[in-house]
Amino acid sequence: MTSSSVPSAAASPLTTEDYAARMERASRAAADAGLAGLVVTPGPDLSWLCGYRPTAETERLTALLLAPGREPRLLAPTLEKPDAEHAAGAGAVRISGWTDGEDPYRAVGDLLGGVEGRYGVSDNAWALHLLGLQRTFPGSRYAAFTEVLPMLRAVKDAHEVERLAAAGAAADATFEEIAQVRFAGRRESEIAADLAASLLRNGHSQVDFTVVGSGPNGANPHHEAGERVIEEGDMVVLDFGGLKDGYGSDTTRTVHVGEPTAEERKVHDVVREAQQAAFEAVRPGVACQEIDRVARQVIKEAGYGEYFIHRTGHGIGVTTHEPPYMVEGEHLPLVPGMCFSIEPGIYLPGRFGVRVEDIVVCTESGGRRLNNTAREMRVVA
Ligand code: ZN
Ligand code: ZN
Ligand code: ZN
Repeated sequence: MTSSSVPSAAASPLTTEDYAARMERASRAAADAGLAGLVVTPGPDLSWLCGYRPTAETERLTALLLAPGREPRLLAPTLEKPDAEHAAGAGAVRISGWTDGEDPYRAVGDLLGGVEGRYGVSDNAWALHLLGLQRTFPGSRYAAFTEVLPMLRAVKDAHEVERLAAAGAAADATFEEIAQVRFAGRRESEIAADLAASLLRNGHSQVDFTVVGSGPNGANPHHEAGERVIEEGDMVVLDFGGLKDGYGSDTTRTVHVGEPTAEERKVHDVVREAQQAAFEAVRPGVACQEIDRVARQVIKEAGYGEYFIHRTGHGIGVTTHEPPYMVEGEHLPLVPGMCFSIEPGIYLPGRFGVRVEDIVVCTESGGRRLNNTAREMRVVA
């Protein structure tokens, strides 16, 4: 494989002030949403707000507690407190420990000065902890972050957009490398390994997925990569991404081994047109579901409506899949700074699949693509 790696400009690390500003923004958003506070457990919300990623999430409660007008507090098991003190944003939050044998939910109450009213809680909080809080504070109620603060992580600031753009450029460099390798006669799993190695070489710290769906396997959007040997004449869906400097990449291109048939070309053109139409529909104020509708309409008009079997896109940030979703029923309006995928596809069971995916950011004047490799079907060897 050629080594056309883009030298990755090291992203400047987030400062204590950056994390303090995020926590302040979250507290204000909570107040605006009529919430008494936020209970943030390990996962993307916690790492986004204070830079803390516990090495192992356990049944012991770890929670960042934010309440309007109070200083941020991080409650961690005493044995993990030294780790928490090394978190990137540790300087912006006061950390307290609770020791085995103590009641961590009572400790939450002490740190929040009582738990009364409605709180936002991380989407992925363990039921164990939520039930513990409800039992300990019968007057409290909880709602998922996505429901009460949908814009908090969905709208990226300029630095976040640049990190996502850098991750996208690295994924593009990976596609250009992979388009040069031999496909015919090799297993999907071998191409997947090439993709993973290339993502890492291009600056990713983590590979989240490497989909290689050849021939009939491409018709299953969730097929990852198996032992099927790729043959001349196969369509191959390549969908890959991960994290670079803490922000995600996710792009799909569908290639063909050797010369495609007229039908294969046509299906690919339809998907590409659907992707382009949805991209052109991006502007502030447009509802997320409209992006899905625009892509779906193109595919429906071409006669393939029943073969587009998933939503058109998802948000991306410190994770590779997150709200908002470009899906029927999502009325959330696009806001400058929202970053999400546009990834329509057509899946012909038993035959082949085609998907084209770019990450797009909504700007004041419309969409900006963060993936820029050619979207025409690439012929590979
Ligand atoms: Zn073919
Ligand atoms: Zn993808
Ligand atoms: Zn995606």
